[in-house]
Amino acid sequence: MLQQTQVARVLEFYPRFLERFPTWESLAAARERQVVAQWAGLGYYARARNLHRLSRWVTRDGGGTLPGEPQALRELPGIGAYTAGAVASFAHGRRAALVDTNVARVLARVFAPRLEPKRPRDLTRLWAIAEATLPRTAGATWTHNQALMELGALVCTARVKRCGLCPVRGVCATYARESPAGTAGRPAPRA
Ligand code: SF4
Repeated sequence: MLQQTQVARVLEFYPRFLERFPTWESLAAARERQVVAQWAGLGYYARARNLHRLSRWVTRDGGGTLPGEPQALRELPGIGAYTAGAVASFAHGRRAALVDTNVARVLARVFAPRLEPKRPRDLTRLWAIAEATLPRTAGATWTHNQALMELGALVCTARVKRCGLCPVRGVCATYARESPAGTAGRPAPRA
């Protein structure tokens, strides 16, 4: 539901949807038009159809649950790279990277300010950075990924960089480049 939809909007629909379809089984047993009807008003109905197809896969082939590996998740209806990473790390506690719009922006600003997340080639490089900066243990990945997402949503947003509040400014390439404090320890440029 959160794909291309704001949290406040989803919160109007999510509890009602869960009330109507509280389990994978109840969703799989419904007809597609019933699922789409319950989704009415939220838009982008391919999500409802994919979720319905996914419920049928889970109940018929998946043993009642989603796989834990990102690669296996990506083969299922409606699951792209970000959702696969989110399900693997948040639901299954796996050491898996995730990159959404906010995370891509944070990673670019911290590690590679020249990368432009909207360019597919650069986004691929940001995914590589996300993989390379994962914690060593799966156990720490949940917190790591949540922190990256929160950083992008609250501190290092598209509109404003709240560097004064940012816990990673000490290693941030953008901060070093743009902030007077970030350049304080550098030699003065030659006249
Ligand atoms: S230091 Fe500033 S630019 Fe760097 S990640 Fe934090 S808020 Fe963003």
